[in-house]
Amino acid sequence: MAFKSAVNVKLNGVGVSPGIALGKAFVVDRGVVEISLYSLGTEQDIEKEIAMFLKAIESTRNQLQETKKKFQEKGHKEANFIIGAYLMILEDKILVDETVKHIRREKINAPWALKNTLKNLQKVFSDIDDEYLRERKNDIDYVGKRILWNLMKTEQPDMKKMQEKVIIVASDLSPTDTAHLDLNKVLGFVTNIGGQTSHTAIMAKALEIPAVVGLQTVTECTENGDDLVVDGTAGTVIINPSKKVFNEYIAIRKKYHTLEKELLKYKPLPTKTPDGIEVKLLANIEITEELPSVIHHGAEGIGLYRTEFLYTGRSEFPSEDDHFHIYRKVVETIAPNPTTIRTFDLGGDKFLSETLSTKEMNPALGLRAIRFCLREIEVFKTQIRAILRASALGKVRILFPMISNMEEMYQIDEIMEEVKNDLRTSGVPFDESIETGIMIETPSAAVIADLLAKKVNFFSIGTNDLIQYLLAIDRINEHVSYLYKPLHPAVLRMIKHIIDTAHAAHIKVNMCGEMAGEGLFTPILLGFGIDELSMNALSILKVKKIIRSFSYHDAQDLVNQILAFETAKEVEKFLINVLSSRYPKLFPELQENPVHH
Ligand code: PEP
Ligand code: MG
Repeated sequence: MAFKSAVNVKLNGVGVSPGIALGKAFVVDRGVVEISLYSLGTEQDIEKEIAMFLKAIESTRNQLQETKKKFQEKGHKEANFIIGAYLMILEDKILVDETVKHIRREKINAPWALKNTLKNLQKVFSDIDDEYLRERKNDIDYVGKRILWNLMKTEQPDMKKMQEKVIIVASDLSPTDTAHLDLNKVLGFVTNIGGQTSHTAIMAKALEIPAVVGLQTVTECTENGDDLVVDGTAGTVIINPSKKVFNEYIAIRKKYHTLEKELLKYKPLPTKTPDGIEVKLLANIEITEELPSVIHHGAEGIGLYRTEFLYTGRSEFPSEDDHFHIYRKVVETIAPNPTTIRTFDLGGDKFLSETLSTKEMNPALGLRAIRFCLREIEVFKTQIRAILRASALGKVRILFPMISNMEEMYQIDEIMEEVKNDLRTSGVPFDESIETGIMIETPSAAVIADLLAKKVNFFSIGTNDLIQYLLAIDRINEHVSYLYKPLHPAVLRMIKHIIDTAHAAHIKVNMCGEMAGEGLFTPILLGFGIDELSMNALSILKVKKIIRSFSYHDAQDLVNQILAFETAKEVEKFLINVLSSRYPKLFPELQENPVHH
């Protein structure tokens, strides 16, 4: 790697796929195309400009058709449909004819004329009442950008020319952009936009490629060929690192790889404390592409299958068969272990096509998750039917999100009974003893846990939301992220209360929020008596190593001590002390920089 003027420009974003990547930047999309206006002198110039515009349209068509072919080969029906819509926009007479007219009439350059046409088209679509058509605005944006690239001969990213593996730098990556990439040549992803649930995040995690999103200005600060360090664990990117920094990261990466290899030895071993307490370690998934990683890391099942990803980016709700086919794949891959399918949790920070969403001032407190389902009962029933059908193929558990009162439980009972009766009448098989559970992620659910426990087979603590609602911290607002503290005494007391209450009612407790996969917290959860932990597959073996060497007795002692602390900071300091001395190699991040949660 050659070193330019060492600048060590450090950007902070959201680390969405852990690990360290070191390599050259490959800028795919800067997000904006700069256009200036100029006049054309002669008739000949005008004709030349028009010919150039038509050629750009043709190049765009060829590129889109090539992508469509790739999608067809890979069997991606939905993405194929999106490209079909792009091609239709490209064939639109208004787009081509109006632009040509603009060039002729006003004697202006093609990019400026096209920009005007696109603006007019956007306006027509914004004024339309129909939400589906209104959403086509994004498609016009996308197609317009593609034509402009071709027209302005902006360097088209061509990975085929790359000899070495690269780090992809983009404003954002859509599934269509990803289809253009040769994923075997990708070392890491960094983007301006996005959060934990963006397409880039999901894909990177599934492929185990380090990624940092939400960097805001990474495309402005990076040139093609710049040296980059991507720390997907800490959520940082360093542009043109000095030799010293680069070497430090080589050492960190080596430590990670050694640790990863060492941890794989734990895969076949049982998850049991030295004094015999068993904890089940399960995986969280969003898409089926994550299944190989789940198996590779020895998960004992799926503890949280977030199904909202079946709904995103589409203009109509999926059919029962759309659901069923995908559940079948997950359930059959994971069997005989259980698959816990959570009914869809749309709204809040879960992105959703505009067509399906309602605009709200406070989406996290709005018509989200179970509230949305109980409003759109037919959509809810379609999903439940598919989950029940899948339960005939392997062990399935059903999980309901965002419960905040008992009335919701009565309604769910009624709906479940109705769907089950329907299936019985039609002779469709399903697991009659299917287990149902609820997410405990609102403070009200935690407070009435004793009542809720009578209605279900298990609880699953969703710490991501529980912390947000308990501490009144918007989980996606970076301005208050310093207050988002899993170790806040209120959070710890509430978790303890939920587990104690569930155990008093003889039901099991899983935890599936991010807290479950954070090794630093494992002894606390163990001491509280958690039964199952569900997490990103990559964290499983680290947590297993801790459980196998931390006795339940010691964990209870530790819990008694931390419950006496008054602040999250004190708890964190205490934990770091205990864990970094017990496991000096297991927490390299504690030595490099303090943990940020
Ligand atoms: C949670 O809230 O902790 C959780 C697991 O659900 P999600 O992150 O999908 O809201
Ligand atoms: Mg949640």
